[in-house]
Amino acid sequence: MNKKIAVYPGSFDPITYGHLDIIERGLDVFDEIIIAVARNSEKKSLFSTEERIHHIKEAVGDDPRVTVDTFDGLLVDYVLSKGAKVILRGLRAVSDFEYEFQIAQMNHNLKNEIETLFMMTSVPYGYLSSSIVKEVASLRGTVESCVPPVVMQALTEKFGAPDNP
Ligand code: ADP
Repeated sequence: MNKKIAVYPGSFDPITYGHLDIIERGLDVFDEIIIAVARNSEKKSLFSTEERIHHIKEAVGDDPRVTVDTFDGLLVDYVLSKGAKVILRGLRAVSDFEYEFQIAQMNHNLKNEIETLFMMTSVPYGYLSSSIVKEVASLRGTVESCVPPVVMQALTEKFGAPDNP
């Protein structure tokens, strides 16, 4: 039987409990998930690619169904090179929709054998994004409930400990 493999691409700058929720739920649907950290993201990142990979590996732990990798260039080419046909993405508010819709359609247009599958965010994580975590941490607010301990530690090293943990 063919393994059902999904590629979960993103910036993961840094990984949050929202990302981890999508990974956990994705594993109920797929046999394997490849977390693919974008190297050529247009966004200026807080953490280096290597730091982001380290955080993801620490947060995911030793699950043989999950691998962490990086990619640059066209995502669809990367997905096919891994023997996968599905791109897994998370959807939060309506604001995510337009961007995700465009990318999914373009990717399908580039390689029509590839499908993008969206999972709705779980209720507690609807507001959660890497950007908001970085903003709050930079203002010394606590984000302990939003990110795994390894990321909390890394944010504390960058910005200092939260004022009111
Ligand atoms: P990108 O720069 O590609 O959007 P992100 O790391 O911000 O990378 O997000 C990767 C994927 O994870 C996206 O599909 C995003 O919608 C999803 N995601 C991020 N945070 C959450 C969350 N709190 N709940 C559900 N999905 C999320």
